[in-house]
Amino acid sequence: MTIIGAGVAGLVAAYELEKRGHLVEILEGSNRIGGRIYTHRFHSGPDAPLIELGAMRIPVKHRRTMQYVTRLGLADKVRTFSTLFSDADSYCATSAGHTRVRDAAKTLMADFSRSLPVGRFNGDTIRFGAWLTAIGDAIAPSDFRDSLRGDLRLELLELIDQFDLSPFLRGGDQVDLHAFFAVHPEVRMSHNGRLNRFLDDILSETGPDLVRLAGGMDQLVRRLAARIRGPINRGQEVVGIDSCDDHVTVAVRDGNHIVGRRCDYVLCTVPFSVLARLRLTGLSEDKTAVIHDAKYWSATKIAFHCREPFWENDGISGGASFSGGSLRQTYYCPVEGDPAGGAALLASYTIGADADALGRLPAGVRHAVVLQELGKMHPELLRPGMVLDAVSLAWGRYWWSEGAACVRWGKDTHACERERRRATRPEHRLFFAGEHCSSTTAWIEGAIESAVRAVHEIHLHRPRSRVPVAVPRMEVMTE
Ligand SMILES: Cc1cc2nc3c(=O)[nH]c(=O)nc-3n(C[C@H](O)[C@H](O)[C@H](O)COP(=O)(O)OP(=O)(O)OC[C@H]3O[C@@H](n4cnc5c(N)ncnc54)[C@H](O)[C@@H]3O)c2cc1C
Repeated sequence: MTIIGAGVAGLVAAYELEKRGHLVEILEGSNRIGGRIYTHRFHSGPDAPLIELGAMRIPVKHRRTMQYVTRLGLADKVRTFSTLFSDADSYCATSAGHTRVRDAAKTLMADFSRSLPVGRFNGDTIRFGAWLTAIGDAIAPSDFRDSLRGDLRLELLELIDQFDLSPFLRGGDQVDLHAFFAVHPEVRMSHNGRLNRFLDDILSETGPDLVRLAGGMDQLVRRLAARIRGPINRGQEVVGIDSCDDHVTVAVRDGNHIVGRRCDYVLCTVPFSVLARLRLTGLSEDKTAVIHDAKYWSATKIAFHCREPFWENDGISGGASFSGGSLRQTYYCPVEGDPAGGAALLASYTIGADADALGRLPAGVRHAVVLQELGKMHPELLRPGMVLDAVSLAWGRYWWSEGAACVRWGKDTHACERERRRATRPEHRLFFAGEHCSSTTAWIEGAIESAVRAVHEIHLHRPRSRVPVAVPRMEVMTE
């Protein structure tokens, strides 16, 4: 069994297939395992400040992910993940400038009301809409922010206006959106489910039940890899796949040559954004269409290694600010090692067009732009010697995923499910997994869901191997 891709989907599939007696080999194109789980450490010491360039938190309701955390012996590393607006002393970009979250409601409501028909909605509905818009402004890509401001929002507010929101008001001016949607899930399903995935994602990202792994999310993939007996071959870029009735030929780049390998079964976990540029033959028209139609959004993360967690002196203990402008979100990472080693700050986390704009800049320019802009909210950053190092990753330009995640926002529930089924359907002996083949795209949970399902399908389809599957070199073609 050949698995293409050593991201979490490929690794979970390999681990589960071996448990069922299959012999497995993984072909990974890059020189790193983990794919979009990518922990960067600012130095090589055991206490190095770290930044998650990819996945950084897990909603505890993501049952499969949490099961793997436990199964891999990582339960003692689980810590609360403090998120956007969880610390009342963090900042929120408003028309009045960067305002402490605890003081932001009045300005947010005034800003929000300005675009509404006068007297149409009651005060609590406006409060609700103002906070939802603030979350959306921080997290959503610009085109989705625009639709949240348009028709979709008026429709939603009309619905919300019918509810008594008083049980969900907190501390005077805040509304507990999570509690409201938990009690009234039907609101998310309204509008034919168009808002459902979007709300699901932004509520998950700002929910009270998020966790992280102390020591880095990459422990998940490293521990999985350590449990896999078959080879995990890095630097094996797959550039073409030919699916036949009784075998699959995988074309792998080997220096200046392309080597064709005949495989009996293949599980492909490569994102469709990458598959779309590969030479694919023997696939049905429908599979080709779904590969090319899949929509991926970019994300860009820019992080600084700071001399000290200066934000603590400003009263911020953690969580994140909505920094607005071209930065959108700023996360204050916990200091877990020796404080003398400094602290990591996720200075900017953007998605969609905002991420593309930062991603287009050369890394040095990108870091300088973010430093100057964030310096307005946190002048401490501009003190000499405060920023020791910078790192960033523009996922929209990352060769191995060409995007951060497959997104189905704005599609109704049935359309999402149809797309998932089409993405997942095997082509002869070629199977598919990865977050894009799941009902929970853009999350580790989706990657695991897809892997477990593919393992089940493969196990039904394919007898267990008793001897290692030979992977002969079939032909050598010069590029
Ligand atoms: C910025 C960002 C933030 C995120 N935040 C979160 C979060 O907080 N929580 C969460 O749960 N999820 C989050 N996610 C999503 C999560 O990281 C992904 O859903 C998940 O890691 C995807 O796993 P995968 O195995 O499907 O794909 P990948 O991790 O992309 O794995 C695919 C593998 O295939 C390899 N590959 C690609 N092309 C080829 C080729 N041609 N030949 C051979 N190998 C190839 C890649 O190198 C990679 O290793 C985030 C993602 C990003 C980018």
